[in-house]
Amino acid sequence: MAATIGVLAVQGAFREHCRALSRCGAAVKEVRQCSDIAGIDALVIPGGESTAIAKLLIMLHMLEPLQQRIQQGMPVYGSCAGLILLCNSIEDAEGKPLPQARLGGIDATVRRNAFGRQVDSFETELPVQGIAQPVHAVFIRAPFIVRTGTGVQVLATVGGNAVAVQQGRLLATSFHPELTEDTSIHRYFLSLL
Ligand code: GLN
Repeated sequence: MAATIGVLAVQGAFREHCRALSRCGAAVKEVRQCSDIAGIDALVIPGGESTAIAKLLIMLHMLEPLQQRIQQGMPVYGSCAGLILLCNSIEDAEGKPLPQARLGGIDATVRRNAFGRQVDSFETELPVQGIAQPVHAVFIRAPFIVRTGTGVQVLATVGGNAVAVQQGRLLATSFHPELTEDTSIHRYFLSLL
């Protein structure tokens, strides 16, 4: 049976991810409550507001079940706020550690809103390791990665800062491929399943 890709649908740009995954031919299921988790083989976490998503995961009793699935090896792709939630440690724009709740799984430290006010939204054609053509990458109040552990592969950088990383079957990007017609990141994620 084909894999079912869950899209975390509590806050943020989840509809756009569902659409992108459907365009890739994947079977998609919105994940809104704890009982949805058992029926998925992989998960996509959208952009949005990482603190709001984390609070909702706690309120809906989904944080721990999802952490368990991640520890058991479920493939997960997170974009922007989704990347923040997948990193083991989080800091603010000034580099101060933030105690906010997270799913974790990627041995990396992420800096929220890292690109600063002037350029807090921009678009660029971005070369990404493992993808043949540059990806049309949309950054919106985006984070970047400031530290990676030994098991983490950096797939793309902007100004020397990591904006796409992979650790095993956990994939994360600072940018939002779901807001464009470019499905190459989604297809890359599906190839990891
Ligand atoms: N700045 C947001 C956060 O810290 C992420 C922005 C986004 O997902 N576009 O959660």
